[in-house]
Amino acid sequence: MSIKSKINELRETLRQHNYNYYVLDNATISDYEFDIKLKELQKLEELHPEFYDANSPSVRVGGEVTKHFATITHTHRMYSLDNSYSKKDLLDWEQRLKKQIDGKISFTCELKYDGASISLKYKNGSLISAVTRGDGFKGDDVTANIKTIKSIPLQLKGDYPETFDIRGEIVLPFDGFNAMNKARIAQGEVPYKNPRNTASGSLKLQDSAQVAQRPLECLLYGLVADKLPVDTQYESLKYAQSLGFKVPDAAKLAHSIDDVLEFINYWDVERHKLPYETDGVVIKVNSLQHQDELGFTSKAPRWAMAYKFKAEQVATVLKTISYQVGRTGAITPVANLKPVELAGTVVKRASLHNADQIKKLDIRLNDTVYVEKGGEIIPKIIAVNLNERTLNSVPTKYITHCPECQTELVRKEGEAQHYCPNYSGCKPQVIGRIQHFISRKALDIDGLGAETVALLVNEGLIYNYADLYNLTVNQILPLERMAKKSAENLLKGIEASKLIPFERVLFGLGIRYVGETVAKKLANHFKSIDNLSQATIDSLVAVDEIGERIAESVVEFFNDIHNSTIINHLKHHGVQLEVSAEKIANQTSILNGDSFVVSGVFEKISRSKLKTLIENNGGRVSSSISSKTNYLIAGAKMGPSKLAKAEQLKISIITENQFLDKIEYSDI
Ligand code: AMP
Ligand code: ZN
Repeated sequence: MSIKSKINELRETLRQHNYNYYVLDNATISDYEFDIKLKELQKLEELHPEFYDANSPSVRVGGEVTKHFATITHTHRMYSLDNSYSKKDLLDWEQRLKKQIDGKISFTCELKYDGASISLKYKNGSLISAVTRGDGFKGDDVTANIKTIKSIPLQLKGDYPETFDIRGEIVLPFDGFNAMNKARIAQGEVPYKNPRNTASGSLKLQDSAQVAQRPLECLLYGLVADKLPVDTQYESLKYAQSLGFKVPDAAKLAHSIDDVLEFINYWDVERHKLPYETDGVVIKVNSLQHQDELGFTSKAPRWAMAYKFKAEQVATVLKTISYQVGRTGAITPVANLKPVELAGTVVKRASLHNADQIKKLDIRLNDTVYVEKGGEIIPKIIAVNLNERTLNSVPTKYITHCPECQTELVRKEGEAQHYCPNYSGCKPQVIGRIQHFISRKALDIDGLGAETVALLVNEGLIYNYADLYNLTVNQILPLERMAKKSAENLLKGIEASKLIPFERVLFGLGIRYVGETVAKKLANHFKSIDNLSQATIDSLVAVDEIGERIAESVVEFFNDIHNSTIINHLKHHGVQLEVSAEKIANQTSILNGDSFVVSGVFEKISRSKLKTLIENNGGRVSSSISSKTNYLIAGAKMGPSKLAKAEQLKISIITENQFLDKIEYSDI
């Protein structure tokens, strides 16, 4: 047998044994025999570097050291999940689904594994990258570390798509976690707090050999590809299993919300017997075509819902309540508690949300309160133990005036939060807005930190973000801890921010409800601040994914003369307030501002690509059919009620091909 075939044979054998042991939990040879084969392979590979394979089972032992994890853009965005807590929440969700989907909806129920999410990319059956979730758009390349996790196949079996991503959760099972802690304690080190943090910390270790020592596992739950050989989520889980992935068997099909609840109730108890942590259940619309029809909000898929199991609780004493003023002027009451340990961390503060919440729970100073920690970082108070209330206790009076600027607080109808209306004179608002403007995802001004911003405002050197562009070295030199060099760097950073593209400037303006994704949408759609500032509520809500709340906030922002003055100043200083000419050069205006609704399943290109093509060619994408819709691009299997509505409103219904011809699209 040639050396090459010998190496291949060993790799194949080891791969199969890894799979038997780590995925099927059913070893067919001893560890000792496995090690002998592995050593033999390592030796041959060392002697014959010409047969190197980045996905050989020998890379499982690690050894690659990463100094700095590269950032990789996800091919498909990694979304978050909406949460539900009751049967009612689930029924409400089902109602929303029924508005968009004709016919019967069934669900796949899965466990929600509590670890660190990961996106794996495979090409021709080989693992080529593993990227952390990061901000959902981009994450860290942790491929070298991930390759040491033995339940992740480096080479697939069966009939796999040419390229695809698969999503999963890296978890640290209790057994392994406890063993790691035992070893740490024996060495006099502090034990790790919980499996989840340890799992996610492991992904960012610089030495992959260290990661290889940790008993991590990867549980897979989602295939993402332009085309899959299956029609439902449930089948896709089985299919992933057939390719060699570790997909837990707990998943179940549910034909009604009652079936879903049965699954939840069963696992709320049984989960304590599982070898790893879970914090809930994820319910997904089963049909992939329905999923496609439903699409995404700016944060999460509309076709999936997490149901959180009840979180851990603990009792402690409420000492004082303080009130914070955010950059939007929103007041948040915060409970200062007698420190207490909860789910592995010491809790000193808890969110009280708003005045209604305090009133509803009748929370008073010196009360014994129950604190709960759900998924969020700040725990919340969920109830008061009335038996332990002191006799002289009085109901809490919510503040009526801003604790920072003494302006009387307002509360808009339908909103839970009180606001300080002193938009341009309330320090935390002024400072918060500028801090947001310079932050990394906005204008990203190098050399200017949050504290310096506070200093500049407190010294009366700036009053708003446009004032940054008037600063001079002489003005900032006298500031505390400001050397000549840092002053110059600061001004350089401010100058450089004039090159930041419009969508990020728009995000930086700090319009309420306009986050990163929404800013991108608005920038692409309206192209310039001038267009956007003239937009009406109607023209705003006509934009895909823009709702009424956002639209009102945008209109209100531009109606404020204070803001328009600042924007004029920004314009005058040369900050990017329109989409760059270069970007526009890659686009056409063939579609003339026409409004499109996309529905159904398409042959040649994906639904999201279609939407991008519409926008890049001067069209607009809307989420639902109305009298303002010009075209409905209808794919296969599209819902009959949408079709009927389009016909009733006499909207032109065109096929994918007719659309592509319209924009003279050629690169298929
Ligand atoms: P959240 O971080 O609360 O928005 O929840 C979303 C995260 O849940 C995803 O990023 C996944 O990492 C995780 N997750 C765990 N189990 C599942 C599952 N079965 N399906 C989808 N997501 C899951
Ligand atoms: Zn104020």
